[in-house]
Amino acid sequence: MNVIRTVAELRAALLGPRRAGRTIGLVPTMGAFHEGHLSLMRQARRECDVVVVSLFVNPAQFNDPADLERYPRDAARDEALAAEIGVDHLFAPGVDEVYPSGFTTAVSVAGITETLEGAHRGRAHFDGVTTVVSKLFNMVGPEVAYFGQKDVQQALVIRRMVRDLDMPVRIEVCPTVREADGLALSSRNAHLSPDDRARATALHRALNAVQEEVSAGERDPAALRARALAELEAAAIEPDYVELVSTDTLAPVSRLDGEALAVLAAHVGATRLIDNQLIQPSLNHNREVATPLRAPTIA
Ligand code: AMP
Repeated sequence: MNVIRTVAELRAALLGPRRAGRTIGLVPTMGAFHEGHLSLMRQARRECDVVVVSLFVNPAQFNDPADLERYPRDAARDEALAAEIGVDHLFAPGVDEVYPSGFTTAVSVAGITETLEGAHRGRAHFDGVTTVVSKLFNMVGPEVAYFGQKDVQQALVIRRMVRDLDMPVRIEVCPTVREADGLALSSRNAHLSPDDRARATALHRALNAVQEEVSAGERDPAALRARALAELEAAAIEPDYVELVSTDTLAPVSRLDGEALAVLAAHVGATRLIDNQLIQPSLNHNREVATPLRAPTIA
């Protein structure tokens, strides 16, 4: 596996494979790899001739400087894990390579960036994401890029950007990887105290409770939210939001007539966690829903 620091080296490494018609897949990450990241890399490895993983802790998408400061970093471990999976190129540029002095351009998606995470983290968050992902797409020129359903709003924002700007890349959304007790894997879980780690399982229970209620026939979003809130309250967790939203637009649904997303965010201790689950009215048995978001609606 090559570890590449500059755009020039990256382009040079990909020139030959591109000319030979090889499929290039990109997995954008901020490092501190866990099984969620590795599942994206494995899917890319199965589907593409050349796998590029980018590792860049993007300052532009952090609304809180303290969060950026304490974001977990472990380059040596990340390199070893990516190499083990068979990643071809780990692109790990410095901040100056991505944002050289004089950098003034931004890519901004309206609408679906303004709710949920956008409302809580501010405009700059998704602008930071879309700008850096646009740059990565231009640097790598992938045919396909892999994102996790864990950050479902981010994945939908990227799909919208790709569609609106005619970017020649397919966006694959891969299922959320969870701990055995249901907690969605996240680099931020490392910050949870043992007590908070135990309480954090309430997020997944809240999402499961929504599916259970829907499977039992409940269709009213207010009643479903109340059920999820009760689950969080029992763990003394006060959420930033709990919503039932459209899988296309992320607008709140007024009745659960088809599939919808249950999305939530909450501080558990000092750590802010997010999670979501696809809610399916047709699902009449109690099991975890790990269906990835399908592409067609807004691909
Ligand atoms: P990050 O390094 O947190 O920016 O995440 C890089 C990619 O991994 C994003 O597309 C995330 O959605 C994805 N990801 C993070 N956590 C998980 C998880 N638990 N399961 C699946 N994908 C994940």
